[in-house]
Amino acid sequence: MTVSRQTFNEVMVPNYQPAEIIPVRGEASRIWDQQGKEYIDLAGGIAVTVLGHANPIMVNALTAQAQKLWHLSNVMTNEPALKLAQAITDATFAERVFFCNSGAEANEAAFKLARRHGNTIAPHKNKIISFFNAFHGRTLFTVSVGGQAKYTQGFEPIPGGIRHLPFNDLAALEAAMSDEVCAIVLEPVQGEGGILPASKAFIEGARMLATKYNALLIFDEVQSGNGRSGHLYAYQHYSVEPDVLTTAKGLGGGIPIGAMLTTAKHAETLAFGTHGSTYGGNPLACAVAHAVFETINTPEMMANVKARAVQLREGLLDIGERYGVFEGVRGLGLLIGAPMSAAWKGKAKEIVNAGLKHGVWTLVAGPDVLRMAPALNITEAEVAEGLKRLEAACAEVTAVAKVA
Ligand SMILES: *Cc1c(COP(=O)(O)O)cnc(C)c1O
Repeated sequence: MTVSRQTFNEVMVPNYQPAEIIPVRGEASRIWDQQGKEYIDLAGGIAVTVLGHANPIMVNALTAQAQKLWHLSNVMTNEPALKLAQAITDATFAERVFFCNSGAEANEAAFKLARRHGNTIAPHKNKIISFFNAFHGRTLFTVSVGGQAKYTQGFEPIPGGIRHLPFNDLAALEAAMSDEVCAIVLEPVQGEGGILPASKAFIEGARMLATKYNALLIFDEVQSGNGRSGHLYAYQHYSVEPDVLTTAKGLGGGIPIGAMLTTAKHAETLAFGTHGSTYGGNPLACAVAHAVFETINTPEMMANVKARAVQLREGLLDIGERYGVFEGVRGLGLLIGAPMSAAWKGKAKEIVNAGLKHGVWTLVAGPDVLRMAPALNITEAEVAEGLKRLEAACAEVTAVAKVA
C-alpha cells in the first residue's frame, strides 16, 4: 500500500495541516522524506526528540524492555517506573512522581491536585491563576487554563474558576491574589505563546505570593524541561522551586510519557483512588525515558546545549541582520525564538516552508516567531549546516519579495 500527503486528507480528521513532505527515516539530527531528500532537524519534533532520531541508547532500551514486559496496569508497579521516578526525585526538588502519557495529562493531574489542595483548606479556595498566551495542553481543562481564547472557542461551556493575567506582570498578580486562589500556573518560558522567558523577578514574586496565600506554584515545564534550558529543568535556572512541576515532550525523547512532580506533602493530596491512568508509568515508556534521562542529565550534555544555543543565536542574528526577516533572538538554552521583523509580521510560516524546500526543518511559535527546539545532542556541524540552509531559504524569500 502506498500512502501520500493526499491520503491524509482522505482518512484523517482535518485538525492538523501537516507539511507536504512525509519523513520516513531519521538519524541524529537529520531526517529523510519519501523521496529520499534530507533535512536538518532544528525542530526536534517540537522539543521532543532530545537525543535525535534512532539514538542507539534509546533503541537498545526500547528493544531490551520490549522483550521483557510492556504493560501491567497500575494494579502492579514495575521496575522501569520506579527507577525513573528514583532518578527524577534524586535530581530535582521533587519527592514524588505521577506518570501519565502527555503534557496535557500531566497538567490535568496538577490542576486536579491544585483543586483538591484548595478544597481541603476552604470551600471557595478553588481559583486557578494563569497567564495570557500560556499553553497547557488540549483537554478541556487544560485549554481553559491556557491563555489563548482561540483554543476554547466553540467548546463552551468551559470549566470555571480560572483567571488569566498578563505574563511577567507581578503587580497584576499581586493584585489578583487572595485566599481563594489554589494555584498559580506558569511556563518558565512560554513556548507556544512565542518563546517568552519569565523574568526572574516575576518568578520570584510568584513564589512569594503562592507561599503567602497557601496556593500551589505550578511550573509547566512540558516544553522547557528535560535539559532544554541548559539545566535539567528551567526552575533551576531561576533558582526558584515550584510545588508542582509538569513535564512531558523531551522526557521520553519520542516515546509518549508525561510526569507530574511534587513534594511528599502535596503528593498526599492525591490520595489512593483520587486519580489514575491506564498507561501512565507503563514499563516500556519508562524504560526508554529512564535511558533518555540518564543520558541528558550530564554536565557534558548541558555544556553542549549552551554551546549550540550560542551558535544558533549568533547564526540567527546574522541572518536576521542580512535579510531583515527577523529581529533579535530570545529564549533559554535550545528553546529559541526569532521574532519576525515589522516587514515580515505574521509570516513566520513562510520561512518554515522555504526552509523545508532548502532542507531544514524549523517551527513557528504563533504567526510572528520562528522557533527552534533541536535535539540537545545536535552537533556543531549539524547546526552550521542547518543555518546555512536557513540562510538560503531567507535569501530566496526576500529576493522573491523584492521582485513582487
Ligand atoms: C506541548 C505542551 C503541552 C501539551 O503537551 P501534550 O503532550 O501535547 O499534551 C503543555 N504545556 C506546554 C508548555 C507545552 O509546550
